Amino acid sequence: MQRNSTGMKTFLSSIPHQFNKDEERLLVRALDFARKAHEGQKRKSGEEFAMHPENAAIIVGQIFPDATTIAATLLHDINEDTEVSLGEIKNEFGEEIAKLVDGVTKLGKVRLRNSKDTNYIENLRKMFIATSEDVRVMLIKLGDRLHNMRTLEFLPEDKQVKIATETLEMYAPIAGRLGIGAWKDELEDLSFETVDAKAFKETKKLLDEEFERRDRSIKDMQKEVSRILRAEGMKFDMITGRVKRVYSLYKKLEKYSGDISKIYDLIALRVITKSTPECYAILGIIHKHFQPVPGRVKDFIATPKPNGYQSLHTSVFDKDKRVFEIQIRTDLMDEEAERGIAAHWFYAESDKNDSLESTRASWMKELRAWQDDVTNPEEYLESLKIDFFRDRIFVLTPKGDVKDLPSGASVIDFAFSVHTDLGYHMMGAKINGKMGKIYDELHQGDVVEIIKNKKPATISRDWLEVAKTSHARNLIRRYLNEHDKGIVQRIRELRLQDIKMPSLPKFFRKK
Ligand code: MN
Repeated sequence: MQRNSTGMKTFLSSIPHQFNKDEERLLVRALDFARKAHEGQKRKSGEEFAMHPENAAIIVGQIFPDATTIAATLLHDINEDTEVSLGEIKNEFGEEIAKLVDGVTKLGKVRLRNSKDTNYIENLRKMFIATSEDVRVMLIKLGDRLHNMRTLEFLPEDKQVKIATETLEMYAPIAGRLGIGAWKDELEDLSFETVDAKAFKETKKLLDEEFERRDRSIKDMQKEVSRILRAEGMKFDMITGRVKRVYSLYKKLEKYSGDISKIYDLIALRVITKSTPECYAILGIIHKHFQPVPGRVKDFIATPKPNGYQSLHTSVFDKDKRVFEIQIRTDLMDEEAERGIAAHWFYAESDKNDSLESTRASWMKELRAWQDDVTNPEEYLESLKIDFFRDRIFVLTPKGDVKDLPSGASVIDFAFSVHTDLGYHMMGAKINGKMGKIYDELHQGDVVEIIKNKKPATISRDWLEVAKTSHARNLIRRYLNEHDKGIVQRIRELRLQDIKMPSLPKFFRKK
């Protein structure tokens, strides 16, 4: 216990939040439980495995200091990687935490195999949405991925590229969609460096040079703007910084055919104040003293970005006709730009259950809005259907392929959706690693492995009762029809033999 209590202090001090006694006790128990469960396991880096869930939990806690979620993050790899079962986690920590761990485990089974296959990506996205209806599952998964990305160097190179590509295509956009700017930026830059080291280096050099070149002028500008705002009696904080990270600069350079001088928001002044009216007042004062660049004023307070981002942006000329971007926002908006949905939830919290429901609702709304981003009308229709996908389940093959099935679907439906032949030869199934029957109903996120027999299965009419998809039902009917015909035929032949054989001449019988 001594070892853990010191470890606990370090752990807790990494999360800038005051937990109450009950919460602290929960975190101590989860930390202890995770260390025991992972005892003896090592990471590729040579560290104790438990370092991973602990660091992931710190990452999650830093943007979302909720004890339940942090505890679930500490336990997130136990179900997958150790002898300890989900049932034991449930006994020890209760239903809520067990459900979160289970959700993360299921998300972990989804693999991005072939990014060219749009159908696959669509299914993958649906799968993510369906499985992580609780936004906390996605927060844990993102924290998990961020720590894995930070320690990617210890994996073999081909694996690094695979994970980084998946992060760039799947996880970073999700972090962005949830408004968690801090995670999106870091996930993108870490992945970009792994996927294309050369482009990363070149872009970073460009960014560093530009930053250095403009360092003096931006400091002058900061002084000048501060002086003016103080003279007008405004209360504010001001920071300067690079707005663009390496990957977002790279993407923008592609758009402007590599001309960095066309990108105004590489470096920006950020003015942070207390209230929305003060934001607009400050904008007015700045425009009074500096000529704005036409068409560069953006009011994301009146019209927030789809991910909830709020701020005023403007670009102005200084006395030497250099362009500067200035961002004006309240401290709460600034916080939300870093922490997105996690900040919303945490600060809106008055009644826990109430806010849990509303966050869930807003999470679903977010993701639906994401679906609405699609421009192709066919895709749009498809996305509307997804809106009502409460009656759909997403089931995985052992390789991580996602099968989209109606709820109530059985192992039989699944087998036929994978391959006709698999359906005709199945004799059983493993569902989430446990033996199951072909009549078993499947549930959201189940991983199903069909056990095949060399001989064709004996398909009975019962299969039709259990199958929910028309695809499976049609194939079963086809089999039954042929099979029935076969029996009739065989009976006919038998009768033919019975009746005619004895009367056939000898040489016929020899054949
Ligand atoms: Mn993990």
